[in-house]
Amino acid sequence: MATNGLLQRLETGPVICAEGYLFELERRGYLQSGAYVLEVVLDFPDQVENLHRDFLRAGSDVIEAFTYYAHREKLRLIGREGDLEPMNRQALAIAKKVAAEGDALVAGNICNTNVFKPNDADAARQVRSMYEEQVGWAAEAGVDYIIAETISWLGEAEIALDVIKRTGLPAVVTFALHKQDELRDGVKPGEAAKRIEDLGADVVGLNCIRGPRTMMPFIEEIRAAVSIHVAALPVPYRTTRAEPTFESLKEKDPECLHCIPGGQSFPVALDPFQATRFEIAEFARNSYAKGVRYLGVCCGAGPHHVRALAEALGRNPLASRFSPDMSKHYAYGTDPRLRPENRSYAKNL
Ligand SMILES: [Zn+2]
Repeated sequence: MATNGLLQRLETGPVICAEGYLFELERRGYLQSGAYVLEVVLDFPDQVENLHRDFLRAGSDVIEAFTYYAHREKLRLIGREGDLEPMNRQALAIAKKVAAEGDALVAGNICNTNVFKPNDADAARQVRSMYEEQVGWAAEAGVDYIIAETISWLGEAEIALDVIKRTGLPAVVTFALHKQDELRDGVKPGEAAKRIEDLGADVVGLNCIRGPRTMMPFIEEIRAAVSIHVAALPVPYRTTRAEPTFESLKEKDPECLHCIPGGQSFPVALDPFQATRFEIAEFARNSYAKGVRYLGVCCGAGPHHVRALAEALGRNPLASRFSPDMSKHYAYGTDPRLRPENRSYAKNL
């Protein structure tokens, strides 16, 4: 067990939670884009462990068990339903192992089921039973708290929260806000957050889908609507008013557009829209100044984003040993031992 729980840590400063395992492991060649099922947990567990460790070194205070989409609906889709329990248990064990290396918290994780339908009791029952099995395994593993994330229905989030609350563990609920600026039930983010607060969540906010620029106005709306802690975990992409979500970002350069299948930038041709580490640092500083304490980065994040976020919040994680220092660059550097002919050539680079 880590020395301080989530709520104590939030009382004294920021809590950083690195996310984005699906995208990063896809880039590394251990997970398939499309279905986005985390077979990597059973097939290449070392890769999951390494990525957790990368994020821990970069300053994450939380190791979130990689059980995103490790639910019945997704595993059925790829014919691995029988692997559901071992996959969850293994993901939890890996997260615990790495967290113990750095006094990090371990979070269990449930997410959008893609099964929920409003006013459909059968769907609600199915969602509840999917959450109950995952939350049960997380609680048995001894996690510090549980995250319900990327949920775009208030109704689904209410079920998730109820299931988590029954364990007695702290609950973090983060909504996914798509293009319409409201949840799929037609509820405004601030109202939905208030409802989740009233139902007993410890932290509420937004994760995924939106980049820093288009997430911030709704984080402010949520901050104003609730008195519990607020979470903000954007995707590191340059979303805009016209294209507010990473799904809606479209390649503009005709020289590049033709080679992207279907002209669809999401999810594997988003590279030109990638936010720099400096933009993530700025988002972290602005959010914290506005009273947002639970911060992270979601799909598309690399350890360099997490380190920049941590440093922006005054941290000095292990990976900061290798934070940029251009003073010894052969041409742009300032060190007097550098060769003057290279420094004066810098303008030609
Ligand atoms: Zn995400």
